[in-house]
Amino acid sequence: MYKRLISALFPRRCAICDKAIEEGKYICAECERIVRPIDGDTCRKCGKRLSDSTRLYCYDCSRKIHQYDRGFSVFDYALVKQSLYRFKYAGRAEYACYYAKAANDSLGDVLRELKADAIVPIPIHRRRLAIRGYNQAQEFAKRLSEYINVPIVNDYVKRQKATVPLKLLDEKERKNNLMGAFIIARNDVKYNTIILVDDIYTTGSTVDAVASVCRSSGCSKIYVLTIAIGKGL
Ligand SMILES: [Zn+2]
Ligand SMILES: [Zn+2]
Repeated sequence: MYKRLISALFPRRCAICDKAIEEGKYICAECERIVRPIDGDTCRKCGKRLSDSTRLYCYDCSRKIHQYDRGFSVFDYALVKQSLYRFKYAGRAEYACYYAKAANDSLGDVLRELKADAIVPIPIHRRRLAIRGYNQAQEFAKRLSEYINVPIVNDYVKRQKATVPLKLLDEKERKNNLMGAFIIARNDVKYNTIILVDDIYTTGSTVDAVASVCRSSGCSKIYVLTIAIGKGL
């Protein structure tokens, strides 16, 4: 009775369109038909879908050196834009269950092959955490960790500077804004291979900033996984 009341008051929502759906499902039948993970030719560096399949790298990666080794992403940003917005700003932390399942369905084998020592979610600043109540990257990483059987380490990297939202800045401003934003908070552990996890990848400046501190602390292989990848957000 109590359970039924709860689910009537707080029905499970489709992680894509937010319509109420039946228990035990992550997304509605309609979204199931439309939403497809990235497939086909992708950039060998960041994992973005390539518009020109004769190229190995996307425009961004062909003119920029990244600090990580290889990136992977589940969806094109345009496809899940509204969903990610609710996930991040409207309290829909539970969408993480769907995103992690989708990540495992499309990239699980690839991710397990990396033989990573740890999954490291990109931290958010503690003030932002206090307002939002959760770190969306951490919610996603936590579920993913169960699927691919790699431990999640939340306190390895710390965000010590509250940064301006990157979408408001150009490339150079992004870099300056992120300078000194992250530090390694654990000196008692050493990881060889890690997977950095975030919700959205645009220019890669955030993951580059985190990858570079991880590199100086001894990580030799640094991979990146995001829920969605896109440009010009
Ligand atoms: Zn839906
Ligand atoms: Zn790329």
